[in-house]
Amino acid sequence: MTYADIIVDISHENIDKTFQYRIPEDLQASVKIGSKVNIPFGNRKGMTGYVVGLSCMPKIEESRIKDILGLAPRGIDIDSRMLELAAWIKTNYGGTMNETLKTVLPVKKSVRPAVKTEIALACDRTRAEEILNESIKKHFVAKARLISQLLENDVLPKDLISSKLNISAATINSLEKQGVVEVRSEKIDRNKRFNETGKNVSVKLNDEQEAAASRVINDMKAGKRGTYLVFGVTGSGKTEVYMEIIDHVVKSGKQVIVLIPEIALTFQTVLRFSRRFGDRVAFFNSKLSPGERYDQYLKAKEGSIDIMIGPRSALFTPFENPGLIVIDEEHEGAYKSEGVPKYHAREVAEEICRMTGASLVLGSATPSLESYNKTQKGEYTLLKLTKRAKEATLPEVEIVDLREELKNKNRTIFSLKLVSLMEDRLKKREQIMLFLNRRGYSGFVSCRSCGEAVKCPHCSVSLTQHRDGYLRCHYCGYETPMPGKCPKCGSPYIAAFGTGTQKIEESVKKLFPSARTLRMDADTTKDKESYEKILSSFANEEADILIGTQMIVKGHDFPHVTLVGILAADMSLHATDYRAAEKTFQLLAQAAGRAGRANLKGNVVIQTYKPEHYAIVTAADQDYLSFYEQEILYRKNLCYPPVGHIMALLLSGGDDDKCCGAINALTAKIIDKFKTIVDNKEIVRIGPAPAGISKINDNYRYVVYFKAQEYTYLTDICAEVEKYRDEIKAAGISCQTDFDPMTGY
Ligand code: ADP
Ligand code: ZN
Ligand code: ZN
Repeated sequence: MTYADIIVDISHENIDKTFQYRIPEDLQASVKIGSKVNIPFGNRKGMTGYVVGLSCMPKIEESRIKDILGLAPRGIDIDSRMLELAAWIKTNYGGTMNETLKTVLPVKKSVRPAVKTEIALACDRTRAEEILNESIKKHFVAKARLISQLLENDVLPKDLISSKLNISAATINSLEKQGVVEVRSEKIDRNKRFNETGKNVSVKLNDEQEAAASRVINDMKAGKRGTYLVFGVTGSGKTEVYMEIIDHVVKSGKQVIVLIPEIALTFQTVLRFSRRFGDRVAFFNSKLSPGERYDQYLKAKEGSIDIMIGPRSALFTPFENPGLIVIDEEHEGAYKSEGVPKYHAREVAEEICRMTGASLVLGSATPSLESYNKTQKGEYTLLKLTKRAKEATLPEVEIVDLREELKNKNRTIFSLKLVSLMEDRLKKREQIMLFLNRRGYSGFVSCRSCGEAVKCPHCSVSLTQHRDGYLRCHYCGYETPMPGKCPKCGSPYIAAFGTGTQKIEESVKKLFPSARTLRMDADTTKDKESYEKILSSFANEEADILIGTQMIVKGHDFPHVTLVGILAADMSLHATDYRAAEKTFQLLAQAAGRAGRANLKGNVVIQTYKPEHYAIVTAADQDYLSFYEQEILYRKNLCYPPVGHIMALLLSGGDDDKCCGAINALTAKIIDKFKTIVDNKEIVRIGPAPAGISKINDNYRYVVYFKAQEYTYLTDICAEVEKYRDEIKAAGISCQTDFDPMTGY
C-alpha cells in the first residue's frame, strides 16, 4: 500500500473528509490504519492527522500528492485512543472506517452553548436615580424606562428587557459604558433535571456484597486490572456493590462509565447515583437533544464529571483516564448494536479496558452464556451474591400448561389460575404486571393441542410463516407449504402465533372493567418523557395493572407488585435462532424476580405450551446453574457461541438475481481463498440462502453463515470480503457482517 487516506485532526464536524498522502518507502511497514502521523498541510506547521484508509491507487494527480513526514509520537490523547478503537472495531466486526468513526464519535457536531443573559444595576441607587432624572430631562425615554425598572427589580432577564420593555441593544450598551448597568451572561447546563445534590447515602453492605466489592478494590490497589462477573439474584444489591467500587475509583482520580440496557432505566439509575455522587454524574442517551448530548460530552472531556451513565454508546465517552466500566444486566441483547458496525458493548468494553488499564465489572442475575463460560475458564472472576438484600422471600412460581386450558375449552389468553389471582389482587388493591414476550413474535407456527412448533428437518430451528403461505427455515432455506394439521399429533388447531399488548389490554378491560391499566410498549413510549411518566405513574399506584413487553421486566423495583403473569412464555423459545432458550430463560427469570420485592408475598404465573422445556423449568426454579449446564451442552454439540463463533454475511439489493448471483460468487471466492481450512472443516459454511425476512423496502436479502472455533478465521473472511466491497457496491448491493449474531436473519 503506497497511499494513505488521512483525516487532519479529528474535527468532529467533518470526519467524512479525508486527504490522500503518499507513504514513503521507509514508513510503509509502520503506517497502519489508526496511525497518527505528521503531515504537511498548506503552510501550517506541526500538523498531525490520522490514517483511516490505505490504498495502492492515487485518487488525484500523482504530482499533487504529498509525502507523510513521519509517525507522530503516540500520546494518550483521547482522539487517538478512539481512532485505535475504531480500527479495532472495524477489524472485528466489519464495516467501513467511516461507519466505525461515526460510532466512536457519538457527538459529531458542536452545538452552541445555551446562555442565559441578565441585566443588573451596576451602581448604587442614588447615582442610578440621578441618571434617571437626567434621562427624563433629556427625553431619553428608553433609558429612563430601563433604569426605573431596574430600580424596582435589581436584575432582569435580557429577553424580557428587549421584548416586553422594547429596549434596544444600543441603549443597554450606552448605559453599560456609563457604568450604570452590567450585562451578565451565564452558560446554562442543558441537563440539570437529574442533579440531586449528593446526600451521600450509602447502605452498610452485607457480607457477600462486602466480599465482592473488596475483591475488586483490593485488586485495583494491588495494581491488577481484571474482569469480574457479579452474579447475583434480582434484588441482591448488585447496584450497591457497583457504587462501592465506583466510590473507590472516583476517589483515586479516575472516571467511570456505567452501561444500562434500557433508556427506561435511566431515570431511576441516575437518580440513585446522583444521591450518592451528586452532580459529578451525567447521563447520555439517544433521546437527548443534540445540544443536551453535546453538553454531556463536553463535561466529560473537560473533566467536570466522573461518572457517565448510558446505553452502549456511552462507552465512547471521552474520559481522560477511565478506571472502570460497569455493565449492568450484561446479558441483555440491547448491548449488541443493530446498526453497522454490529459491535457488542461487552467486547468493546473489554478492549477499552485493555487499552486504558481500566477494570470491567459485569453484573446479572442471569449471565450470558458467554460471560459465565469465561468464569469457568478462569478469564473472568466470579463474584456471587446469593441472597436478597432486604428481607424478601422469593415469589411462588407456578407453570400453567396452556394445552390443558384448551382441553378445558378456555380459549382466552388468560388461564383460569391467572384470572383468579388477578381477581384476588385487585380486591386487595395490590398491583399486577402482565408481561408479553414479543421476541420471536414474527409468525412461527405452533400447534395448540400438543404445543409443538413446526421445525426445519435440517437445522432444529422453527420455521417462519411467509406471506406467500410457505414456511421457511431462516438458516438453510428449506421450505414447505403451510400444513393443514399438526405434523406431530394431527390436530387441526395449528396457526401462526401472535398477540399484541393492545389486544391484552382490551381483554383485561373486558374481564375487569373497573381495573385501571397502563400499557408500556414501543407504541406508548415514542417520546422522551413517556417511559418515566408511565413508570412513575405505576409506582405511585395510579394504575392496578401494567401491561408490557420485555421493557417492563428489567430492573424495576415496584414494592406493591405481588403478581406477575407471563402470558406466552414460549414465544421466544420458538424464535429462529440458537439463543432462543437462553433468551427465554433470561426473560422468565427476570420477570419472575419482579414479584414480591418488599414484605408482601408474590406469585408468578408462567403460561406455556411447553411446560417441560428445560428453559421454562429452570427459570421457574430460578436455577441458573442447571440451565447453564444443559444449554452449554447444546452449544458444544453444534459449535455455537460461546464454544465456537458464527459470522453472518448479508447481501441486499434491489435486483433479486444480481443479489443471489453476488452472494454465490462471493461465497465461492471465500471458499477458494480459505480452501485448506474449509477442507479441514475448521470453517463450516451454512447457506447461502434467502434471509428470513427475504425482502425489506424492496431490497432482496441473502445470507450465508460461517462457523469456526477460531474467531480470527472469521475476521480473516471479513477482511477478504472487504476487498470486494467496492465491486459489490458498484453493482448496487450492500454488504453487512454480523459476528455471533443475537438474532436469526
Ligand atoms: P440489584 O441491583 O441486585 O437488583 P439493588 O442494588 O437494586 O439490587 O438492591 C435492591 C434493594 O435492596 C434496593 O432497594 C437497595 O437499596 C437495597 N439494598 C441493597 N443492599 C443493601 C444493604 N446492604 N442493606 C440494605 N439495603 C440494601
Ligand atoms: Zn400437535
Ligand atoms: Zn434449515
